[in-house]
Amino acid sequence: MLHHARSLEMKIRLGEEVTSIVRSSSGAVAVELESKKRLVADTVLFSVGRTGDTDKLNLEAAGLEGCKPGRIEINSDLQTPVPHIYAVGDVIGFPALASTSMEQGRRAVCHAFGHPFEPCKTIPYGLYTIPEISMIGPTEEQLTKDRIPYEVGHANFNQIARGQIIGDQVGMLKLLFQRDTRKLLAVHIIGDSATELVHIGQTVMAFGGTIDYFCDAVFNYPTLAECYKVAAFDGRNRLCLEESFQAAESADEVAAAFDLDATLAELQGTQEGADNEANVSEEAIAETW
Ligand SMILES: Cc1cc2nc3c(=O)[nH]c(=O)nc-3n(C[C@H](O)[C@H](O)[C@H](O)COP(=O)(O)OP(=O)(O)OC[C@H]3O[C@@H](n4cnc5c(N)ncnc54)[C@H](O)[C@@H]3O)c2cc1C
Repeated sequence: MLHHARSLEMKIRLGEEVTSIVRSSSGAVAVELESKKRLVADTVLFSVGRTGDTDKLNLEAAGLEGCKPGRIEINSDLQTPVPHIYAVGDVIGFPALASTSMEQGRRAVCHAFGHPFEPCKTIPYGLYTIPEISMIGPTEEQLTKDRIPYEVGHANFNQIARGQIIGDQVGMLKLLFQRDTRKLLAVHIIGDSATELVHIGQTVMAFGGTIDYFCDAVFNYPTLAECYKVAAFDGRNRLCLEESFQAAESADEVAAAFDLDATLAELQGTQEGADNEANVSEEAIAETW
């Protein structure tokens, strides 16, 4: 997303505090950040998040003293410190989404009436930006931090027929799966219909499925859902590469298996070729024109 934003000449600064915004007579905007950075831009979108509108609710009258401004404290059953009062939605904080707020409402009612309720373990996130962004499950950074061995499978929208039909040049679907079991851990999507597509991965994750499901499934053609199949094969190919690497017993065998010398020579040749080409091309162009 950041890469795509950069290609549109947008700069995104996350986790910064704005100390001042000044518009000059020429129309440009200068923004000072708490970190002492200074940005000058044609347009600035300044986003600060949301807080609950609780100050006029007279929560003290209901016995809910001492709540933080805009927040109501709850326990894991969504009960406030006054147990027959439940709180759900934006007033309880993260993730503060319509999807999760509705489910919290259901959970609270089930608890109040003693009805068993199995909460959804992993929730999807959707950003209705252009292009759309959606994800379910941990990021690569989180898996790395938790030391979970994972592998990645990618599919670019422009690799598949539907992506080419709609002309999506930036769309990408990424599967993260456990290396030993191939169990699907997460799906990250950017591009057209990302917020819809993510639910396919969500279902497979909910049933503890592996990426093999996508390899063997037949998808409608042409659809963006086919990205799951392409990404799953990409992921499986990476595992095969790794398995051949592990199967080779010595460094020589590894070199032979991958023909490292030839690859290196080819790369060096390509690089030299590219360097020469870069040198020659300017002369060639000058001669031609
Ligand atoms: C610009 C924007 C875009 C968003 N996009 C998405 C999205 O794409 N997907 C998503 O899942 N979520 C999205 N959200 C978040 C989502 O809207 C909220 O998480 C969700 O509406 C929270 O539900 P809620 O019931 O807690 O609060 P609300 O939906 O805000 O409902 C609270 C209600 O209480 C009423 N109220 C307040 N004070 C009083 C009072 N004193 N007496 C009586 N009534 C009162 C309000 O009028 C309001 O109707 C977006 C939010 C914003 C602001």
